[in-house]
Amino acid sequence: MPPDPVHTLADLEAWSRPGTSLAVLGHPIKHSISPAMHNAALAEAAKSDPRFADWRYFRFDVPPDDLPRALEVLHAQQFRGVNLTVPHKVLAFDRVAEMDAAARPVGAVNTLRWQKSGWHGFNTDGYGLVSAVRECLDLELGDAHIVLLGAGGAARGAAVECLQRKCRSLWLGNRTRENLKPLFNLLWPIAHGVPLHGFVPASVPADLPADALVINATSAGLHDTDHPPIDLALLPRPAAVFDMIYNPPETRLLRQAAFLALPHANGRSMLVHQGALALEIWSGLDAKLTAPTMARAAAAALAG
Ligand code: NDP
Repeated sequence: MPPDPVHTLADLEAWSRPGTSLAVLGHPIKHSISPAMHNAALAEAAKSDPRFADWRYFRFDVPPDDLPRALEVLHAQQFRGVNLTVPHKVLAFDRVAEMDAAARPVGAVNTLRWQKSGWHGFNTDGYGLVSAVRECLDLELGDAHIVLLGAGGAARGAAVECLQRKCRSLWLGNRTRENLKPLFNLLWPIAHGVPLHGFVPASVPADLPADALVINATSAGLHDTDHPPIDLALLPRPAAVFDMIYNPPETRLLRQAAFLALPHANGRSMLVHQGALALEIWSGLDAKLTAPTMARAAAAALAG
C-alpha cells in the first residue's frame, strides 16, 4: 500500500472529497503514523458497518501561523474530527467553541470534534497514558509515587492526570529549573493534598521514594545520541519506567531500565490508546475494541 500522502493548507482550500474526513495537523507531520492506525481501524469497522466505508483520515503539514486558517477551513469543509500534534496542542486551545471539562486544566487539546457552532476540544493523552501504564506495566497512576521528567506539554498533561487520579506523590524533574515554575503554578490549585516536589535530574533529592513509577515526558531520547534525562542508578529502586517516546522503540533510558532489570515500556501503547479514544469521540466506536487493530497498524507502520 502506498504511504499516506502529506497534504498542505493549499490542498485543504481545494478539498472536494465526498465522504467523512478526519485529519491530523502537525509541523513536521511526515513521521506521523496516526493515518495508518485510524485508517486500519476504520477499514475494520467498515466490514460490519457500511457507515464507515467512506471515512478516511489524512495528515496535513500546517505551520503554526497557518493553524487558525486551517481550523477555519476544516470546519467549513465539515471534517468530522481533527487531531493536533506538535506544536499545535496549546495553540488550538483558545480556538475551540466548547471545551471538555477534563481538557481544561491541561491547557492543551489534541482532539477536536466538529459541531455546528465550532470545534469541541478534548485531550485524550491522559487516557492514553493511564491505559498504557496499565496495559504494559500493570500499574495504576493512582496507587503510585510518580517521578515525572519534563515540563513541556506532554509533562503537563501527564501531571494533571496523575493528580486527578490522586497519585501518592508527584516529583517533577526538569533540566531547566525555571521551566518548572509555570508548571507548578498550574498544578498547585488542583493538587488537593497530593505532595508535589520539583527537582533538577542532575541532583536527585535524597528523600525521593523507592518504588516510584518513572515517566519520561521529555524529548531526550528521540535521537540515539541524546543523554538519558536521568540516571536511573541514582534513584532508590523504581517500580518501573515508562518512556513516552516510541520511535526509537528503545531509548537509552529504557536500555538502562532493562540493564537494571526494571519493568519498562515505550510510548507506543500510549499513542494507540489516545488515538482509539479520539476515534471513539468522533465515531462512537468503542476505544477498547478498536485499540488492538490500531496497535497492529502502529507496529507495522513503525517496522516499515
Ligand atoms: P516539549 O517541547 O513541550 O517539551 C520538551 C521537554 O523535554 C522539556 O521539559 C525539555 O526541558 C525537555 N528536554 C528536551 N531536550 C532535553 C534533553 N536533551 N535533556 C533533558 N530534557 C530535555 O515536548 P512535548 O512535551 O510535547 O513532548 C515530549 C515528548 O513526549 C516527545 O518526545 C514526544 O514525542 C512525547 N510524546 C509522546 C506521546 C505518545 O502518545 N506516546 C504523546 C505526547 C508526547 P527544558 O525545559 O529544559 O527545555
